[in-house]
Parts: sequence; structure tokens; C-alpha cells
Amino acid sequence: MNVKLWGTRGSVPSAGHDFVRYGGNTSCVEVQAQEGWVTVLDAGSGVRALGETVGPEITRVDLLLSHLHMDHIQGLGFFAPLFTPDLDVHIWGPASTTLDMRERLARYLSPPLFPVLLRDLPCKLTLHNTPLGNFEVGSLSVEADLICHPGPTLGYRITEGGRTLAYMPDHEPALGFRSFQPEKEWTSGFKLAEGADVLIHDAQYTNDEYEGKIGWGHSALSHTLILAKAAAVGRLVTFHHDPAHTDAQLDQFHADAELECGEIDVPLIPGQEGLTLKV
Ligand SMILES: [Zn+2]
Ligand SMILES: [Zn+2]
Repeated sequence: MNVKLWGTRGSVPSAGHDFVRYGGNTSCVEVQAQEGWVTVLDAGSGVRALGETVGPEITRVDLLLSHLHMDHIQGLGFFAPLFTPDLDVHIWGPASTTLDMRERLARYLSPPLFPVLLRDLPCKLTLHNTPLGNFEVGSLSVEADLICHPGPTLGYRITEGGRTLAYMPDHEPALGFRSFQPEKEWTSGFKLAEGADVLIHDAQYTNDEYEGKIGWGHSALSHTLILAKAAAVGRLVTFHHDPAHTDAQLDQFHADAELECGEIDVPLIPGQEGLTLKV
């Protein structure tokens, strides 16, 4: 399977030449596997451009949402497959104890926030509460679990042909630690990440920024590196970049990572919009 990054930001930055390489769209990742099937992780603003690539040969689209914060669903109203008559589209997201998925998505896909009602979309739409544990999406084996982030939030572990991708775009596994030392049995997200060939993970803050934002649900780059190393992942792709960080700053943070965290034996890949990786 391949993965392609269509949006890597935690929120949309101001347009400008300083944001070109890392991109300005919010969370969206395509998992390219079975022919004729499109699988997407999160529907941030990056999903609009992805939708333009969905041709008539595609018979089914699955959209797996990590959670329903605005930066992960804001592209939904601009995702062409939702407006393609009779196309089989499935949206999966975390269950909530208060409102079902249709009611929560309809908050956005309805006036005054959006002109088209969810129920008026012409595609053949099926909504699912993502089960915790294992399920299949086409040729992909998917495992979902709740992870540390405000509100019901899922991490995904996706396996095909013995290769594994772990995806945790919004995640604060270091919450509650004085000094972050992940342990398999009880660190949020550890089991989803363990031994994955590729881990795409929140790396929104510097250490200094994190100090002022503890509990907001995101990671310092150093925490992400520590988790990746402890979980023995093959490669780490940084994700959910802060909207205030320019290309030059992000280059610097990645270059400094080894100085901050000591030797890193996990290959570190800066998550940039448009990047495609073979898992
Ligand atoms: Zn987010
Ligand atoms: Zn979030």
C-alpha cells in the first residue's frame, strides 16, 4: 500500500510563500491499496483536491475520521464524491455518547454553516460508528482505538500484505508525565504504533510551546520521537504542523530533533503536502 499526504496542518495558515513545501491544508491522508477503491483518513481541507482525482472507475470511497474537530471535517463540503450520484461512500468516525454521527456531521453540513444538507447529498452515503478493535475496509485490515485528545478520538492501525501504517494525527501521549517514558501497557497509542512500518503522528509543537499548551491534545516533536523509538516503528512521518510554523522553522525543528532528543534511530520524514510513501 502507498500513502499520500493531502493536508498536514493543524489549522489553515495564512497563505504565503513561507508555507509552500509543508503545505497549507489541514489533515487528510489517502491510503492507496485496492483498485477501484479510495480510502481516506480525515477530511481536512486537503480532501478537496483528493476528491478531484476520483474518477468513474472508482466504485467505493471510505472516509475514516479520527475525530470530528473542524480541521478534520472542514473539507467534507468540498469533496466531489459526496456529490456524485449513487457513488457508494462510507464515513466512519468515533462513537459519541450524546449524538450520533449523522447529527454531529449535520451540524456542519447544514445552514448557516453550509448550504447543502447532509440528507440531500446525491451519493449513496452510509455512516458508521467505528468499532473499537478490528474490522475490514476492502483489502485493508483496520484496528481502531481511543487515544488521548479532547473528545472521542481514534487512532488507526492499517495493515495490508504484512505492511502496517499507524495514523494518529491529534495525540498527546505525554499528558501526565513529568518526563515522557512510554510504556507498552498503558501509554496512549503505543499498541497502535508498535512495530508499524510507517507512523504518521502529531508533532505540532516545540518543547517550549508545549509547556504552554499541556492538555490541548497535541505533541511536541520530541514526544513524538520518543514514542516512535519506544514503539520501534520503521519510519516516522511528522504531521499536524502548527499553522504558525513556516517552512524554514519546520526545517529547523526537524534538523534540531536529534540534538534535542539524543540519537534517533527511527528515520524521520517531515510530513509535507504531496508526499507519497510506499509503506
Ligand atoms: Zn486536528
Ligand atoms: Zn483535534
